Amino acid sequence: MFVSLMVFSLLFAGRAICGRFEEEKDEKDYALHYLTQYHYISPTRSGNHNATKAIENFQKFFDLPVTGELDEDTLYQMNKPRCGLPDVDVNGERFKRYATLGKWYKTTLKYYMTYGDDMSHAHQARIMARAFKYWSDAAPRLNFAKTNNVGAANFRISFGRRAHAGVSGERQCGHPFDGPGRVLAHAYFPSDGRIHFDNDERYTETGASSGWWFWKKESQSLLAVAVHEIGHALGLKHSNVKGSIMWPTAKKGTPTLHSDDINGIRSLYG
Ligand SMILES: [Zn+2]
Ligand SMILES: [Zn+2]
Repeated sequence: MFVSLMVFSLLFAGRAICGRFEEEKDEKDYALHYLTQYHYISPTRSGNHNATKAIENFQKFFDLPVTGELDEDTLYQMNKPRCGLPDVDVNGERFKRYATLGKWYKTTLKYYMTYGDDMSHAHQARIMARAFKYWSDAAPRLNFAKTNNVGAANFRISFGRRAHAGVSGERQCGHPFDGPGRVLAHAYFPSDGRIHFDNDERYTETGASSGWWFWKKESQSLLAVAVHEIGHALGLKHSNVKGSIMWPTAKKGTPTLHSDDINGIRSLYG
């Protein structure tokens, strides 16, 4: 009896250790994938390929204690819903402020949109108009108008799942979505015009969170995500200024532009 109990407890302990080992390996794999996706580990040969340095740069970007290790704060931040675009350039380091990539050389811009599953089309169209207005209020030379003619549009807004293709006639997007959570949307820099939302997310106008654990019901703010993605489509990259709309992780509630966002858009269209 004693022997069999001992064997049982040894087996059990072995399994527990194995389970924890698997979990750590999964966390490490996910973190490496994350650091590569957001360019902390560089896609170019000349950039950074050191994992510790990549973790440190990630921690600096997100204002976390810089330990160079995959600690709890770091993994927690890596699991937050966010935009799918990279955060940093080749060397992974930069000043604390906005960054830009490209611009439009005209200021009257048209957008064409298709719709997600969560709200009426009229409601989604109102939210999108409201999102564009954030940027034209900050840089009054910008004018945005909705068009039903996709061929005349500068921006093409669409919702898709996993491997997605955007509005009809658009080629397959090279960046598949990942199901509910994590990546919510992405957009292309000027003058491409594609803005893609992950249709596996649940969207409401300003997002909500209720219940807990198994019963937790969560929705993302279509308004906040749209303002952020339009920012990319106008030429703004991710900002490492916490509180800016161009910060990579998603916010709920009614968004406001930070002075960093306003400085960024005015540097392009002021
Ligand atoms: Zn983004
Ligand atoms: Zn896409």
